Amino acid sequence: MQENYISELQKICGAHLVSKNVPLKEHTSIKVGGNVSIMVEPDTIEKVRSCITLLQKNNIPFFVMGNGSNLIFSDEDYDGVIIKICSKLSKIEVDGEYITAEAGALLSKVASVALENSLTGLEFASGIPGTIGGAAFMNAGAYDGEMKKVIVETLNIDGTGKLVKLRGEEHDFSYRCSRIQKEGLICLKVVLKLEKGDPKEIKAKMMELNNRRREKQPLDLPSAGSVFKRPEGYFAGKLIEDCGLRGFSIGGAQISSKHCGFIVNTGNATSDDIIRLIEHIQKTVHEKTGVLLDPEVRVIRGK
Ligand SMILES: Cc1cc2nc3c(=O)[nH]c(=O)nc-3n(C[C@H](O)[C@H](O)[C@H](O)COP(=O)(O)OP(=O)(O)OC[C@H]3O[C@@H](n4cnc5c(N)ncnc54)[C@H](O)[C@@H]3O)c2cc1C
Repeated sequence: MQENYISELQKICGAHLVSKNVPLKEHTSIKVGGNVSIMVEPDTIEKVRSCITLLQKNNIPFFVMGNGSNLIFSDEDYDGVIIKICSKLSKIEVDGEYITAEAGALLSKVASVALENSLTGLEFASGIPGTIGGAAFMNAGAYDGEMKKVIVETLNIDGTGKLVKLRGEEHDFSYRCSRIQKEGLICLKVVLKLEKGDPKEIKAKMMELNNRRREKQPLDLPSAGSVFKRPEGYFAGKLIEDCGLRGFSIGGAQISSKHCGFIVNTGNATSDDIIRLIEHIQKTVHEKTGVLLDPEVRVIRGK
């Protein structure tokens, strides 16, 4: 990539927020992936907007990530720019029953702010290791909760740098999908509407759900959470287990023996190991049960 774009990005964001040749395995929960030429972490909404406009205008490939908890970058380097919207853009404000969070705020942090303010409705999300922007994009959910139920408004940018405000139904949320995802919008800010509740009950609910996670999920090893979406009428993990795949591995990628819906990195997995294991699971489950598993994790190929 041309040096002049890098210096423009540095001018927009400040040199300390622009890094070269960054190993993506250090920015994803499953710990795989090649390097990205440039990673930029804007700390204001205006800076995100200016970066997008610059990159669009100059035809530089770019990708937006949050906390990297649902991503599998390929082993090849990504020749372009990754805009990371995470801790640098993560202010949270509370106004009565409304919480406004910048897209990079972690769900766990927003949930603890909800608890501090005796607000109920976000307990389901306190153990999901993503940002609120990533969660709006994915319509993340767990234990009968879904972002759809609590998001009332988002502020986004489209590919041309135009601001797009979405309200309620306009988000077109469905299972692990949203209009933000379908239209490739970049989420900047999320407004949640919660309800007044009893802090003791809110805390107890969060602890109960997080204990359930610890009991059922392989949280001691790197993963990207559930690999597949839940197929209509089935559970992906149960189908995989019933096909005899518990503990099956390719290289350092293994189907967790604790929860067959997870692939874990046992130490030295490559992205290729994980992708081949995903394909192997899909083929085996399809042959044995007729069900085609659709990945929930997002695989991003290098350019
Ligand atoms: C141990 C574990 C448990 C998990 N449990 C759950 C669970 O219970 N329920 C669940 O739904 N998920 C779960 N996940 C998956 C993951 O945490 C969620 O999908 C989360 O919402 C992803 O957020 P992120 O910030 O990490 O996004 P990333 O992984 O960084 O990105 C995911 C996608 O969102 C896009 N994206 C991220 N931020 C933005 C933004 N600001 N604007 C536009 N697009 C953006 C990216 O381009 C990418 O396509 C789990 C993952 C792990 C590792």
